[in-house]
Amino acid sequence: MPHLGHLEAGNRHDLHIGISPDAPDEGQLHEEDGAYGYAHSYETSSRFDGPGLRIVLFVSGCLLRCSYCHNPDTWHLKDGTYISAQEVLDRLAKFAPALRALDGGLTISGGEPLVQAAFTRRILAGAKQLGLHTAIETSGYLGDHVDEKYLSALDLVLLDIKSSNPETYRSVTGRDLAPTLRFAERLAAINKPVWVRFTLVPGFTDDPANVEGIARFVAPMKNVEWVEVQPFHQLGAFKWKAMNLEYKNAQTPTPTPDLIERVIEQFRAAGCRVR
Ligand code: SF4
Repeated sequence: MPHLGHLEAGNRHDLHIGISPDAPDEGQLHEEDGAYGYAHSYETSSRFDGPGLRIVLFVSGCLLRCSYCHNPDTWHLKDGTYISAQEVLDRLAKFAPALRALDGGLTISGGEPLVQAAFTRRILAGAKQLGLHTAIETSGYLGDHVDEKYLSALDLVLLDIKSSNPETYRSVTGRDLAPTLRFAERLAAINKPVWVRFTLVPGFTDDPANVEGIARFVAPMKNVEWVEVQPFHQLGAFKWKAMNLEYKNAQTPTPTPDLIERVIEQFRAAGCRVR
């Protein structure tokens, strides 16, 4: 068994690299019962990653390589800390009364929670037993790999739809768009609450036709409670440098207020509830 570590409360913007050098490649992980897994960090008081006050656990491992990713140190399991699900739940139990009182709960983000589906499901199921609202933030790329049991442990899915155009999607993430759209349709079919998240990256995802395509796809879905437009920022740039990765967005500006308003208006005009 890899060396078991402990996770202290931190911040998504902290840099974590090389903590578990013996971890498998994130594309070759064979999970057993999910009792152990790899995590980057957790935050104790988010107001942005689901309703109410949230604990946000950032797990390690992602198969996408978004050119504007704010947390490339979550891509590889070897950069995460190997921890037990029980330790996460013990820690969560201490916060549970406050989270319940503030209509909040647990959100698992990443990285990509579905890379370690057994580990994250175990934590989500434990959070439900604590009476907490549960959510994951996911690209949906591995949505085909999770079963109904996984979805039943979830109250909300924060679904990142990065583009409506397969070519744009591939150029910004390195992967196919279709699994994400399939997952969105599956969630709509079972009426699972979803907040769609769209990262607005000038010059990469801001094309009006791209935004329009997402808006038209999402608008008829009654389970989509919100579309959240998330402006690109440079807070993760230092991580690319520290990890010696080629960062294509070094010169990309943050979106102007006018651009953000244009995109919000596009979603609104299509009939989406947007913020
Ligand atoms: S899906 Fe998220 S964690 Fe993965 S590369 Fe894209 S932005 Fe980064």
